[in-house]
Amino acid sequence: MPNYNRIDIAFEHGEGAYLFDTAGRRYLDFGAGIATSSLGHGHPQLTAAIAAQAGRVMHVSNLYRVPEAERLAARYVAASFADSVFFCNSGAEANEGLVKAMRKTMSDAGKPERTRVICFEGAFHGRTLAMIAATGNAKYLAGFGPAVEGFDHVPFNNLNALRAAITPQTAGILIEPVQGEGGIRPAQLQFLRDLRATCDEFGILLGMDEVQCGIGRTGKLFAHEWAGITPDVMSIAKGMAGGFPMGAVLATEAVAKALVPGSHGTTFGGNPLAAAAGNAVLDVVLAPGFLDQLDDVARYLWRGLVTLTGKYPSVFTEARGAGLILGLKCAVPNGEAQNAALAEGLLTVAAGDNVLRLVPPLIIGQAECDEALALLDRTARRCLPSQAAMAAK
Ligand SMILES: *Cc1c(COP(=O)(O)O)cnc(C)c1O
Repeated sequence: MPNYNRIDIAFEHGEGAYLFDTAGRRYLDFGAGIATSSLGHGHPQLTAAIAAQAGRVMHVSNLYRVPEAERLAARYVAASFADSVFFCNSGAEANEGLVKAMRKTMSDAGKPERTRVICFEGAFHGRTLAMIAATGNAKYLAGFGPAVEGFDHVPFNNLNALRAAITPQTAGILIEPVQGEGGIRPAQLQFLRDLRATCDEFGILLGMDEVQCGIGRTGKLFAHEWAGITPDVMSIAKGMAGGFPMGAVLATEAVAKALVPGSHGTTFGGNPLAAAAGNAVLDVVLAPGFLDQLDDVARYLWRGLVTLTGKYPSVFTEARGAGLILGLKCAVPNGEAQNAALAEGLLTVAAGDNVLRLVPPLIIGQAECDEALALLDRTARRCLPSQAAMAAK
């Protein structure tokens, strides 16, 4: 179907942070399939784990126990606020499960009127019918009405607006600690702390969408850890199985207990193959020193990006983000910057708010950062003439 605007390039294979197209050209991949190929391409541990599991058993359904998924869930529980995990297949599906868990928790608590979830301007929660309503972006809703009921929107990082939106119908809040599609906009850490306190004050649930910023991308396993608070329920997906389709809802016992047998489910979710991929990703990300090393590399890259904005302020006006979820706010159309980067052999992803998004595999080192910065320097020089033309208009 014609729902994608595809770039006319096909990749034949990949190695680490590099992709090679069918013509043999090499690209440095700072898009990672939209923040998903967390271990890069052809990672030996991940590919071996998938191949071995595929040869044993791929799928059995959730009618039976799945030891690989039990192990993965136990590891997430040990490494997070969560007491319980539900596996699914995508970010949107994880968010659907998260919202269902919120509503059911309220219903079971004798407050069935509490069905509404407060979301934020600039959010992105996925493309299902309910999640385009949660996203609230008119562009994604157009033509798909009637919009699913139950989502309210307030400005990002604005506590007064948030508090004013809470009503007796509110079940909870859903926030990305770092907005991805919306333009790499981090929530202020104090705002996240205030949200936690506000949820406790009003007896409502705090939900985090860490589909893009979770699984080590900010330098901690989960982005909310930087604020020193925990949510009641959280969705993850993109990077969790290194490119194999997988999502999950993590929750405290108080929320998880609402999803009794028969209340929610999935055929594919958490099958042995997906769980093997998920375990291989955690083997790497939770290895001692991995996240500290990522944090060092990310700070090095950040300094380079800030230098770049100083050198080419008429092309890149600002560096944004945290860890390896980074963006350059553009003074030229971001699509043009993306094309210029592509011409230089650097893959990036456009994001909202005219931002060029940089979400490389988590396994990059200083050498890949140096190369990316050099390619971005050339990208900026390519964009200078168009900037001059825009200024002359
Ligand atoms: C990508 C994304 C989603 C949707 O994930 P899909 O796997 O495409 O359904 C939801 N929330 C956030 C924050 C995302 O970045």
